[in-house]
Amino acid sequence: MNEAIILKTIRRYGPISRVDIARITGQPPSTLSNITGRLLETNVIQEYDTGESSGGRRPVLLKVNPAAADIIIVNVRTHTVCCHIADAAGNIKGHKRDYWFRRDQEEVLNYILQAITDALELTTAPVPAIAVILRGPVKSKEGISMFAPNIGWKNVPIKFIIEERFGIPVMVENDVRILTMGMYYYTLAVQSRNMALLKVGQSIGAGIIINGELYKGDNETAGEIGHNTVDVNGPLCNCGQRGCLDAFASEVALINYVEEAIQGGRKSLYTELQRQVQQGDLSRMTVLEKGTLCNAHDLVYQAAVEGDEICLEALERAAFYLGVGLANLINVVNPEVVVISGGMMRVKQLVQERIEKITRERVLPYCFTAGKIYFSDRDEEANIKGAADMVLATEWENK
Ligand SMILES: [Zn+2]
Repeated sequence: MNEAIILKTIRRYGPISRVDIARITGQPPSTLSNITGRLLETNVIQEYDTGESSGGRRPVLLKVNPAAADIIIVNVRTHTVCCHIADAAGNIKGHKRDYWFRRDQEEVLNYILQAITDALELTTAPVPAIAVILRGPVKSKEGISMFAPNIGWKNVPIKFIIEERFGIPVMVENDVRILTMGMYYYTLAVQSRNMALLKVGQSIGAGIIINGELYKGDNETAGEIGHNTVDVNGPLCNCGQRGCLDAFASEVALINYVEEAIQGGRKSLYTELQRQVQQGDLSRMTVLEKGTLCNAHDLVYQAAVEGDEICLEALERAAFYLGVGLANLINVVNPEVVVISGGMMRVKQLVQERIEKITRERVLPYCFTAGKIYFSDRDEEANIKGAADMVLATEWENK
């Protein structure tokens, strides 16, 4: 138990001095010294010389040994199964491969198994577990995907399937929660106890950290903020209710807004971009990451960046409702820090100011006294860190 706490502290906060480990964990020096000695001997952690000295002895810091483990991370994204290998410090080890799929459930499963087979050939350290990141609700303990909207899975026992094939433990988690963990401990290294994260993509979800721990709720579905009502008479949402945040501010809502305006007779650059992309010409699509497919919402982003009136309106409306939704979330959770992330942050320069303004106007001031809002475009890095943390916190420290 003590070893688990100390190792977790070194992983999450390292390079870190023994004095700081003692302060964070409350462990007495003798226990600390025994445990760090053992971890150094077994090469799980390393000493790290800062090279700085303020006179006298140089402080020796401790950090996790990156070579102590390889973690295979399979992220099932909208159109691809994306596979990484991370080291024990949560750094990407250079291997990244995308496997493109159509929305065929069987095909996705085959690509996941293929991705793991390929990655296992490249590992150079023990693999304590494989992490699988899925969209939609999951039962993480049982490793079941309850519903994955991007690939049409319902109640798929993915953990069982992969473990049976490879004989390696598998951990399954929802994408928003992995992202939240990665942001909290590593990418932003938030120095506070309470944080809320909003991920804005094809749907909208929230990750919530309370007292330094991820909050999952009774049925592991906490954070479904995309289906909070923000207008009781609003448009129909794909969940069957009216006026959900998703129906105003998700990428799907952006597309609906623009296409309705065009059908109503207005002119938009969206139409021209759509034609170019359909002809295979992506040269104008500067908002696209290299090697990714162009979705309809990317057309909205590109047209907005180029100043298209309708697409800018769609983003302005989304930003307004995101501010409303975020203020609601802050009033409930009372976090010191909120993070806004997801695909829409590729055009954060177009929405950031308005989201922040509306949030600050609408939130109860005493619910957000610390008041830090971050707009992140480092989701991939946070995903890897969060997934590696999930594996090591369970396989190394929770035995
Ligand atoms: Zn809804």
